[in-house]
Amino acid sequence: MKRIGILTSGGDAPGMNAAVRAVTLKALHEGIEVYGINYGYAGLVAGDIFQLDKDTVLDIIQRGGTFLYSARYPEFAQESAQLAGIKQLEKFGIEALVVIGGDGSYHGGLRLTEHGYNAIGLPGTIDNDIPYTDFTIGFDTAVNTALDAIDKIRDTAASHERTFIVEVMGRNAGDIALWAGVAGGAEEIIIPEKKFDIAQVAAHINTDRQAGRKHSVVILAEGVMHAPEFAEELSKFGDFHVRSTVLGHVQRGGAPSARDRVLASKMGAYAVELLMQGKGGLAVGIENNELTYHKMDDLFDSKHKADMSLYDLNSDLSH
Ligand code: ADP
Repeated sequence: MKRIGILTSGGDAPGMNAAVRAVTLKALHEGIEVYGINYGYAGLVAGDIFQLDKDTVLDIIQRGGTFLYSARYPEFAQESAQLAGIKQLEKFGIEALVVIGGDGSYHGGLRLTEHGYNAIGLPGTIDNDIPYTDFTIGFDTAVNTALDAIDKIRDTAASHERTFIVEVMGRNAGDIALWAGVAGGAEEIIIPEKKFDIAQVAAHINTDRQAGRKHSVVILAEGVMHAPEFAEELSKFGDFHVRSTVLGHVQRGGAPSARDRVLASKMGAYAVELLMQGKGGLAVGIENNELTYHKMDDLFDSKHKADMSLYDLNSDLSH
């Protein structure tokens, strides 16, 4: 194998650059050339491809976002687009690829593998919602960003004896809410994986208030409902001085945490090793602190499970 390509696709996540750097440096170390593909599969089809060398990736490990850009390109589900992408791979002499993204990006990678161009997937998403990995690249940074905001919100909540509903990202997965909630000492965590009863949330806040704890922070995953709506519902049960805050895209940005940089570096180097072994159609994960891989096909058939022990722990600590 003489030349590989790398692209980032789907939602961006802090640590994607660290992964691109690791893939590039590991491949160069092994005598393999690396080409960066801008704008995910859209750039592949358009031939927006350039050579990466040591200098190109010199100062990207600490940068958030992805310097290869990301784009949504649903057309890549069609075979005609895949064949157009393969033409570009042939033109640039790229024999195999590393794809950093989520589930959708893996589908694209699997199609390329089926066409004879091995692709290895790395899980890049802040949501942590990919099966067969305990952590995704970007999750730790997003949790820390959310936590920083929650700590600040608690200061003002305490000063004014308010109840704050803080909406964090997580459409299908409650991982950010669970981790930021436990770390931020949340009074309640509301996630898609667990049914909730707003009357019980109100009763909890009431009990706390009667015991002299006059402010509360509720962490709400966006997949359940939006914070202003939750605040309105809660206010029907009493005057809790409710305010809502939507953290939004701030959670997607920022310099990656040490954990994310290390995870991305380990996974990036591992992806190159797998390609050198002639493997493709695989997704890399980290399970019990060991690097693992699973068939992309197997991932599509399974669902990520949030660590619900965190939910139970928080219930015990906050009641
Ligand atoms: P994520 O990778 O974060 O799940 P998307 O679902 O938006 O994000 O997918 C990213 C990109 O992967 C899409 O814009 C598209 O180019 C490609 N993709 C998604 N689904 C498929 C599919 N079924 N077949 C081929 N390519 C796909």
